Amino acid sequence: MRWATLLLFVCACATTPPSKHAGTERLCVANARTLDRDTLTSIVIVEDRIAGLYEGEVGGCTDRIDAAGAWVLPAFHDAHVHMMSGATALTSADLTGADDVDQILERVKRFAAEHSDHAWIIGRGWTFDAAPEPSAALLAGVDARPIFLESYDGHAAWVNDAALRAAGVEGSGLLLEGAIASVEDHVPARSREEKIAALEIAIDHVLALGVTSVDDITTDPETFALYDALEARDALPIRATVSLPLDGDLEAYAHLREEHPGRFGYLKGFVDGVVEAKTAYLLEPYATDASTRGAPLIPKDRLDELVKRADGAGFRVALHCIGDAAVRMALDAFEGTTTPGHRIEHVEVADPSDLPRFAELGVTASMQPYHANPFGPTPDAGVWSRNLGAARLPNTFPWRALLDAGATLRFGSDWPVMSADPLRGLAVALTRRDENGAPQDGWNAHQVVTLEEALAAYGSGPVREGAAADLVVLAADVDPTAPRTLWRGARVRLVISRGRVRARPGSPR
Ligand SMILES: [Zn+2]
Repeated sequence: MRWATLLLFVCACATTPPSKHAGTERLCVANARTLDRDTLTSIVIVEDRIAGLYEGEVGGCTDRIDAAGAWVLPAFHDAHVHMMSGATALTSADLTGADDVDQILERVKRFAAEHSDHAWIIGRGWTFDAAPEPSAALLAGVDARPIFLESYDGHAAWVNDAALRAAGVEGSGLLLEGAIASVEDHVPARSREEKIAALEIAIDHVLALGVTSVDDITTDPETFALYDALEARDALPIRATVSLPLDGDLEAYAHLREEHPGRFGYLKGFVDGVVEAKTAYLLEPYATDASTRGAPLIPKDRLDELVKRADGAGFRVALHCIGDAAVRMALDAFEGTTTPGHRIEHVEVADPSDLPRFAELGVTASMQPYHANPFGPTPDAGVWSRNLGAARLPNTFPWRALLDAGATLRFGSDWPVMSADPLRGLAVALTRRDENGAPQDGWNAHQVVTLEEALAAYGSGPVREGAAADLVVLAADVDPTAPRTLWRGARVRLVISRGRVRARPGSPR
């Protein structure tokens, strides 16, 4: 086995571009607690690889970090994140966690006052729990400028009269799904340099949380050039794939794939919407409205055709499916495909009879553990749970059932829909409890996974010789085997990516 490992190491080195390090530099992380080793370990990094793991101290280090017994893990991969929207979230009015309309308006007013230079007031993060009936009328008097407020999941927008006028459209001020673009398209565009700066803000944000690799699910071809510009400046400390819309021009995509090897992610399609807005497509009617079970956003024939077309051209497909009927439609569309790596995103509700099909068809379930922490007075009392009804809840976020059925799981955040913090996701995946430890027995706790399984889904686990030198050193009091500690304040001490210390959260970089 040693030879195999060594061979892997040598081969990886040979194909890796030369780094900024001189060949003789050895970065050592001493006194590291790692997943499958009983004793504290020294991790030796040469260039961008883990060159070796040793019991106790090692010599010849050109730089040394003392983990002092803290946990060291391979840094996390986020399989579903919207980096540009995340950047927007970090630079707009943050409505996350606002309890009611008054709090939302208060935050919008404060942001507007602090940003008198902005032509539009952009906000995001409100929920239907906080604002059950959003309207332009509610925003009257808040500010004279156009106001555009995206819901936490991006499937609704709440705008004022000035925004409707600027867009030349009429309406109540609540826009759902496809109608959002009618106003959003009129928000003043940013320059390329502004977009690159925004992307850097998003990268810094995820990096500080221990994420060194992302599948950016943003479906905008321009994003390729933004990442490339950062790479060319040696300012891209994360690995990133970029996804594009499923119904686009495959010939143009093939060119992009050639021009950006390794950066091409998935062809992303939407099969349905979300449970809160009753746009998720269900096998049985909504518990709160027997007249609807949602509807697919795309006809079945068209979905089948698009998936076959993409698969035939060797593209991996990622389909947004939240309801159990949408999941079934996607699995049906993946029947007979041959390109490896197709995924279904979210899988919030799935019929147990469909779970074995993931393994049979080689389809990955790309899920976001922190979503399984629904808003509301209790998890069962929030809009999400009430819309689904008690009978379906045991089959929601079915990680355990999927793994038991042989499926491959990938975990991500869906940031900025939810926090980008993988440690929070990890805590929910391990316990199905929130940061307050509630509910005590876990919410549908039969779906929890083990630490090894959860880390694997985040692209983490034991530190291995020959692997990429992407590591996260956790704070001294954070212990993944005691999930309660994963919620604590400053939980990441430093982040190493491609062999270089990148982020020391809480200190200037
Ligand atoms: Zn998403």
